[in-house]
Amino acid sequence: MSDSSQFVSCPAANLKCSWTGPLNELDIHVQSCTLAILQPLFAPILQQYQDNQTEEYLRLKIEYEKLQQERDILKQNQQASEQIVQLFQNQAQKNQQLEREIERLQRLVIRLCTRPTNTSESPASSSQANNQNEDSTSIKRTLHEHDTQIKLLARRKIAVPGRNENLLFTPTNIRSF
Ligand SMILES: [Zn+2]
Repeated sequence: MSDSSQFVSCPAANLKCSWTGPLNELDIHVQSCTLAILQPLFAPILQQYQDNQTEEYLRLKIEYEKLQQERDILKQNQQASEQIVQLFQNQAQKNQQLEREIERLQRLVIRLCTRPTNTSESPASSSQANNQNEDSTSIKRTLHEHDTQIKLLARRKIAVPGRNENLLFTPTNIRSF
């Protein structure tokens, strides 16, 4: 290991002394190197600096991980919100369909109720009237069912998952009966 031709650097290399040379010339250099003379004085300061750097690095690493977690939570919340909006839109669409259906049935009922009746009451027209009565009753029943369904939908509320606040969404465009 005591190979005198081996190249070494100055012990003050960490203080930016750029000297390198054969091992047997090191002693001569160190005696004339200002940085090597100052080295013992600066060593604790340098060590302290490196420790601070490590500490700061660890602190930043923890902060970074915390921020990443917060970002993930925000992402999940955003996804949940989008799902709620989607649910709400689907619900609104269904409500509109039901409203159209009710309007169609209401028009049908009005048309059947205002149809002129035949006063001569021939057997044929009498059975026709009976059929119309049955149709009208069945339509009224359907209309009532739709009405109940709409009221149920209006009462339905969607809770927001993954939130502390108990936010509630209520469809606003539902016609009230
Ligand atoms: Zn040196």
